[in-house]
Amino acid sequence: MADDTHHGLAAHEVVLLLQSDADRGLGPGEAERRLERFGPNVLPPATGGGLLWRVLRQFHHPLVYVLLVAGAITAALSAYVDSAVIFAVVLLNAVIGFVQESKAETALEGLRAMVRTTATVVRGGRERNVPSSELVPGDLVVVEAGGKVPADVRLVRASELRVDESALTGESVPVAKDETVLDLRTPVADRRNMLHSGTLVTSGRGAGIAVATGAETELGRIHRLVGAAERLATPLTVKLAAFSRILTVVILVLAAVTFAIGVVRGRGVVETFTSAVALAVGAIPEGLPAAVTITLAIGVARMARRRAVIRRMPAVETLGSTTVICSDKTGTLTENQMTVQTVWTPDDVFDVTGSGYGGDGALHDAAGAVATGGVHRALHWCLLAGAGCNDAVLVRGDGRWDLVGDPTEGAMLAVAGKGGLSAPAVTRRHPRVGTIPFSSERQYMATLHRDTDTGGHLVLAKGATERILGLCGAQMAADGGIRPLDPGAVLAAVEGLAASGLRVLATAALPSADPGAFTERQLPGTLVLTGLQAMLDPPRAGAAAAVSACRTAGITVKMITGDHAATAAAVAARIGLLDASGAREGQVLTGADLTALPDHAYPAAVDRARVFARVSPEQKLRLVQALQERGQVVAMTGDGVNDAPALRQANIGIAMGRGGTEVAKDAADMVLTDDDFATIEAAVEEGRGVFDNLTKFIVWTLPTNMGEGLVILVAILLGATLPILPTQILWINMTTAVALGLMLAFEPKEAGIMSRPPRDPARPLLTGALVVRILLVSALLVAGSWWLFTWERGTGASLPEARTAAVNLFVAVELFYLFSCRSLTRSAWRLGLFGNRWIIAGVITQTAGQLALTYLPAMNRLFDTAPVSGEAWLRILGIAALTALVVAADKRLRHQRL
Ligand code: ATP
Repeated sequence: MADDTHHGLAAHEVVLLLQSDADRGLGPGEAERRLERFGPNVLPPATGGGLLWRVLRQFHHPLVYVLLVAGAITAALSAYVDSAVIFAVVLLNAVIGFVQESKAETALEGLRAMVRTTATVVRGGRERNVPSSELVPGDLVVVEAGGKVPADVRLVRASELRVDESALTGESVPVAKDETVLDLRTPVADRRNMLHSGTLVTSGRGAGIAVATGAETELGRIHRLVGAAERLATPLTVKLAAFSRILTVVILVLAAVTFAIGVVRGRGVVETFTSAVALAVGAIPEGLPAAVTITLAIGVARMARRRAVIRRMPAVETLGSTTVICSDKTGTLTENQMTVQTVWTPDDVFDVTGSGYGGDGALHDAAGAVATGGVHRALHWCLLAGAGCNDAVLVRGDGRWDLVGDPTEGAMLAVAGKGGLSAPAVTRRHPRVGTIPFSSERQYMATLHRDTDTGGHLVLAKGATERILGLCGAQMAADGGIRPLDPGAVLAAVEGLAASGLRVLATAALPSADPGAFTERQLPGTLVLTGLQAMLDPPRAGAAAAVSACRTAGITVKMITGDHAATAAAVAARIGLLDASGAREGQVLTGADLTALPDHAYPAAVDRARVFARVSPEQKLRLVQALQERGQVVAMTGDGVNDAPALRQANIGIAMGRGGTEVAKDAADMVLTDDDFATIEAAVEEGRGVFDNLTKFIVWTLPTNMGEGLVILVAILLGATLPILPTQILWINMTTAVALGLMLAFEPKEAGIMSRPPRDPARPLLTGALVVRILLVSALLVAGSWWLFTWERGTGASLPEARTAAVNLFVAVELFYLFSCRSLTRSAWRLGLFGNRWIIAGVITQTAGQLALTYLPAMNRLFDTAPVSGEAWLRILGIAALTALVVAADKRLRHQRL
C-alpha cells in the first residue's frame, strides 16, 4: 500500500481502487480479513537507533574513558589481572546500562499504549468507534475537531476541516483540507486532500478512505528514519550528567597531581600510576546514572498503576514541586453524571423524582401533582428544547438505559422522558434541519427543525442562562402565551438553584421560525425563554479527601470551569475548596471579572482566587502565565482542543484519558486514565517519593566514593602503602551499587510525605544537613579503614589480609548505612529493619559476595585478597556499628525525633 498517488486521483477512483464504499465503508467481515492481511495499525516500537549504536552509547561516558585508558596502560605495564578486572567492570557496567535502558524504554512505550486511542469508522453503513489499531486500508474514516487522524486518509468529504500537521511538517498553523483532486507532483506538505496519521484535527469534520496504515503511513516513514525513542531525561538527570562531567575532570586533575607528587617523591612510576588510577576509579560514582534511570522508571510505573500516565519524563520531577493545581470541575472534581432535579418555568417550578436515564420518575408541581407538558405549555417547550436541541442518544442495554454523548444532554433527554416526551417521537415530529453546535466559547446550542404538524419551522435552543437570555426577547407563560422577558426574575431563579450546587441550563424556543434567519448573527433577541433545567452532578467520592490532602501538602487547588459562578462556588464549598462560610472576597472570579481586571492587578487577584467560573478556554493560558509570574509551579487540567496552549504553558499539563480530545492529550505531560482529580494528588505523592529515593541513593553512595578517594590520597601524600587496591575499589563500587544502593529505588514512600511543603525547584538536591552527613560518613570511613589497616598490619597480618579487612570494612559500613538511608530524617530503628524486602535480599547477596571475595582462592588471586581472622571480622562489624550509631545521633540532633 506504499502507493503515493491517491492525492492525484478523484475521490471515487480511490474508493474503487481500495474496493470500498464512500457511504457504507467496508463490511465487518472484509475489515477483519484486511486486518489479518495488513496487520494492526500501529507503528513498530521505537528503538532509539540500531543495536550496535545502543551498545556503543553505553561506553560514551567520561568515566568509562578514564577506565579504558587506565585499563590499557595497566595492560601495557604488564599488570594483566588488574587490566582484566578493569575491562570486566567496564563491560559489566555497559551490560547493566544497556539492559536497564532497554527495560525503561520498553516500559515507557508500554505506558503510551495505556492511553488507548479510538477511531471513528463507518463499517457496513454504521458509524462506530474502534481501537485505532484495528483500522485497515479501505476503511471509511470519520474525523472531527479534537481528534487525531488515525491513518493516512484520502478525503471524500470535508466541511470546514482544518488540521494541525506540525507532527509531520513542523508548521503549527492549521491547514484547510478539502476533497478536490491535486496535481500528482504536489509535495506531501501541500496535499490538501490527504489527512496524515498522527496529525490533529482542530476544527470541522470530514470523512475519507484510509489508504495506508501503520508503518506504511507518512508518519511511519519518518518514524523509521528517525527511530526516536523517548529518552529518560529530566532536568535533574541533565544536571547530574553535568555534575559528573565536572567531577571527572576534578578527579583526573587530582589524580594527575597525586601521580606527580608520588614520582617527585621518588616512588616507582608503576606503583604511583596504579595509585592514581585507584584514586580516579574510587572517587567516581559509577552507579549514579543507572540508579537515577531506574528510580525514575520505577516512579513512572508506580504512577501508571495509580492511573496517571506520564508522557514526558520531566513531569515526574516537576510533580514533586507543584504548588498549584488548576482543575476542571465537570468530570474531574465531579462525577459528570447529571440528573435534572428541578425544572423552572416563568410561572411554575417543578420537582423531578427518579434517577438514571430510564423514564422512572416524574415531574411534580408545587401542589405535588404530577405534571406533563401536555397541559403546561411552557413546561412542554422547555422539555422539547432540552430533548430536541440535543446530540446525545439513550440506548437500551442489559435492562438499563445507557448514554452515548454528553451527560448534560443525557439528563435533558431523561427529564423529557419523565414529562412524556420521548426522543424518537420528538425526532419524528420535528426532524432537525440545521444546527449551531455547542462550543465552550459559544456556551449554547441551537437547532432548526421542520414542524411536521404545521409544515413550518421551529427553533430550539439551550445553554448557559446569560447566553440564552441574550437570544431571547420574550418569555412563555403556562398557557403558552408570550409575555415580556423578565431577566431579573430569571437570574434570581438561577442564583437560587445554583447556590445549592445545581448546574443550570436555560432553554428557549421559537415555535414559528423563518429558516432563513437561523444564523448566529440573526438569532439574538428573537427567541422565547421557556424555562430552566437544574441538574445535580455529585462531587466525586474521593475529591474532598484529595483536596484536603493537597492542602496539607502545601498545594493550592483552584477550580476552573465554564459553569455558573454560584454553581461552581457551591460545589467548591462542598469539596472543601472554598471556606464553608461561603466565598470570601475575591475567592470567586468570573471570566468577565478577569477581563475587567487591570494588567497590574491581574496576577495577585488570580493568585488569591480559588474558583474561576464562566471561563473560556482562551482565558486559561493567561491564568497559567499569571500564576507562574507569581512563582507558582502550575499543574493544569484540560480536555478540549482550545485547552492545548494552556496545557503546554503549564509546568504540568494534564489531559483526561477518557473524556479528553486527542489534541489535549498530545499537548499534555500526563494523562489521567480515570479523569479523576484524586489521581493528580496520587501522582504528586509518587513524584515526591521518586525525588526522595533519588536523594537517598545519592546520600548513600557519595560517602563511599569520597572515602575511597580520600584514603588513597592520604596514602600517597603520606607516602604509605595503599590500604585498598584499584581492582578492590572497583569491586566495592560495582557490587554495592547493584546489590545495595539500587534497592533504595524500591523504598516505599515515607509516612508524612504529603504533610510537607512542595520542593522548591531551585533548591539544591542536597541540603546543608545532608552534605554534613555525607562528609561525616566519609570521614568515619577514612579514619576507620586507616585504623583497621594499620592495626591489622601491626598484629602481623599480611598485606592482602589487611587490605581484605579494609575492603570488608567499606562494605560493612555501607551496608549498615544503607538502613539509615531508608529515611532522610527518621532513624533505622523507627523504620523497622524489614520494611523493604529488596534491601534484605540485597544484604544477603552482598554478604555472600564478600565471603566469596575473602575465602574463595580464585577470587583471592583475582583481587589480591586473603582470608581474614575472626577477630578482624569483629573489629569490622564494631566499626560499622559505631558509624551507624554516629549517623543515628546526627539525625536525632537534627530532627529531635528518633
Ligand atoms: P468544566 O469547565 O468544569 O468542564 P462545564 O462543562 O460547565 O465545566 P463547558 O463545557 O465549557 O464547561 O460549558 C460551559 C457552559 O455551557 C455550561 O455551564 C452550560 O451552561 C453550557 N453547556 C454545557 N454543555 C452544553 C450543551 N451540550 N449544550 C448547550 N449548552 C451547554
